[in-house]
Amino acid sequence: MLVVMRKDATREQIRGVVTAIEARGYKAHPVPGGERTAIGITGNRSAEDLPAFEGLPGVLEVIPVSHAYKLVSREVKAENTVVSIGGVRVGGAGLVLVAGPCAVESRDQILTVARMVRESGAHLLRGGAFKPRTSPYSFQGLGEEGLKLLAEAREATGLPVVTEAVDGESMDLVERYADAIQIGARNMQNFSLLKRAGRARKPVILKRGMSATLEEFLMSAEYILSEGNYEVVLCERGVRTFSDFSRNTLDLSVVPAVKDLSHLPILVDPSHGTGRRDKVAPLSRAAVAVGADGLMVEVHHDPSRALSDGPQSITPDMFGALVKELRQIAPVIGRGL
Ligand code: PEP
Ligand code: MN
Repeated sequence: MLVVMRKDATREQIRGVVTAIEARGYKAHPVPGGERTAIGITGNRSAEDLPAFEGLPGVLEVIPVSHAYKLVSREVKAENTVVSIGGVRVGGAGLVLVAGPCAVESRDQILTVARMVRESGAHLLRGGAFKPRTSPYSFQGLGEEGLKLLAEAREATGLPVVTEAVDGESMDLVERYADAIQIGARNMQNFSLLKRAGRARKPVILKRGMSATLEEFLMSAEYILSEGNYEVVLCERGVRTFSDFSRNTLDLSVVPAVKDLSHLPILVDPSHGTGRRDKVAPLSRAAVAVGADGLMVEVHHDPSRALSDGPQSITPDMFGALVKELRQIAPVIGRGL
């Protein structure tokens, strides 16, 4: 349910509605908008007490929300959400480029790549310290040491950092060192991890599960918002299909679908989406054209020696060339870069 306040509703009236919602044992989620404040209600099982809120001072109307997901939906908030990651605005007019290696491998590697992508125009630095790998014998990441190196790279370049948390323990560390917490495809439906992210004080980048429907994707974001963290950025990274010429099938059609249904920003990751270096630039151009709020791209200065995802990592030169192309495409659709 959603309580829509009148344009001239006072702060006291908003507080009064919140109190009334909480008195029934429900959770109130005030969503300030450009025009008016709306208050999302979660925890209620039916719309039977809708009339109880209708009569409260300052209330314009109470409407049932038709989707299973509520707080992430456009019904609850018509304006686009802009998430600030270390001061970088994601979801505004400017496109955001998240770039860096799949994994943090060494001080030299992360500092080298960070400086190079920054030079080309990246806004955020990525790099995994906790890597979810298919094989237990593959490189698992440097752990806390990797987070310290990311913090050092941020210091050296000024780029805020994004890195993945895979469980509660790594979440505690990532929350401490990073500017945004990434939840990977494999954990998109790790509900206890989503709830923990909902209690975190850092923004979350939530990647789509490799076989998740759009509704499942949005429901996972709903878990995070329902715990009180409204700073969520979605990320399409490809889904599994019969198509076997690429690692995954990048579902670009999900971008306008998300824009329709949700106010949350969405990035596209053409690296995991294709698994192939030569496909990263074409799909990046398409992602920007289709309306993504930015890209997450894997860049390595020596991809043939990368400890993970070398085949899909582009070189800093390729990244630089891509940024130049995107600078031409962005204005055509009213975006900046
Ligand atoms: C990653 O970003 O390095 C990663 C593991 O991505 P995904 O969860 O999309 O596979
Ligand atoms: Mn990777």
